[in-house]
Amino acid sequence: MSDNPSFVLRGIEDVVYEERPIPEVTDDEVLVEVKKTGICGSDVHYLLLAVSAALSSRSRWFSDTSRLESYQKVKNLKVGDRVAMEPGATCRVCDDCKRGRYELCPDIVFAATPPYDGTLARYYRIPADLCYVLPNDLTLEDGAMMEPLSVAVHSVSNIAQLRANQSVVIFGAGPVGLLCMAVAKALGARRIIAVDIVPSRLEFARGFAATETYTPSPLQPGEPRLAYSERNANIMMQTLGIEERGPKSIDLVVDASGAEVSIQTGILIAKQGGTFVQVGMGAAEIVIPVTTLLVKELNFKGSFRYGPGDYQLAIGLVAAGKIDLKPLVTHRFAFKDAIEAFQTTRAGKSPDGKPVIKAVISGPDVPSEDPL
Ligand SMILES: [Zn+2]
Repeated sequence: MSDNPSFVLRGIEDVVYEERPIPEVTDDEVLVEVKKTGICGSDVHYLLLAVSAALSSRSRWFSDTSRLESYQKVKNLKVGDRVAMEPGATCRVCDDCKRGRYELCPDIVFAATPPYDGTLARYYRIPADLCYVLPNDLTLEDGAMMEPLSVAVHSVSNIAQLRANQSVVIFGAGPVGLLCMAVAKALGARRIIAVDIVPSRLEFARGFAATETYTPSPLQPGEPRLAYSERNANIMMQTLGIEERGPKSIDLVVDASGAEVSIQTGILIAKQGGTFVQVGMGAAEIVIPVTTLLVKELNFKGSFRYGPGDYQLAIGLVAAGKIDLKPLVTHRFAFKDAIEAFQTTRAGKSPDGKPVIKAVISGPDVPSEDPL
């Protein structure tokens, strides 16, 4: 008997609700009753390209004792636990998995990345070790936010290795950029400078985690992009008192925008021997001032999803009160209105004009306004 209503993408903008069978689990997997799913830009991207549904989750383990015997190898969970799910299952045997960089596994099975379905269903099957028990004072909505927060933890803590008292510039004040600012603050950064071209985003960033904000001046008609970035970097350094060396220099630049001019400007303002981390996904190919990168000996690094320890640190920082995720959930949708959640996220605002930071979709029969 099927009791697993699922939101499924069959083609471009072709979304249907289907009754699917309740998944069978192996002895090291669990069945999770999904209560809250956060959606992100890449989900919307896939919606446009046509394929599978939503990302991340925060959920509750399905409590059906009849299924308990199939959980015989599960040691880290018990029926009824409230968990955050890490949605990428890796092979565990390849070189990347074995050297502790499982986000690079070539055989990763990732929820909501074509051709795999997402967690917009009543039940979702997942390896038990990818479920992280939430402390009691965290809501399930907080749990749904652990996926994007882990992306930020990965880039700022794991990849950039940010240390206390360092200065950080973050390009892009969307969800990932804001979460990177929050992680930098939680880890003790001294200056956190948010850069964006949308004033309302900077205003939010200032109240959330940034110590300073900066709005780049506009590109002049006919101005080459790299020349613009050089001009922009000079103005930014003067305005904010940034120097190339010493205590007024920038230890870490995080690009969460994917914009060519942001990446160029970031390379130009980072200190000698500083670090640049690319976490935003934009154009596949861009021009960068590579000689600057060379003579400054910048550590130029990519950051992709999340790896060992990221979910634990994300949950730990929120549990310790160092990061408050609640202001980021701006829109909530019932399961039956999932398509509206995607449309709103793609539009960047709801019909009432309210800008979207993060939209959360509740599971079937779950009240959408209750963070649980
Ligand atoms: Zn692997």
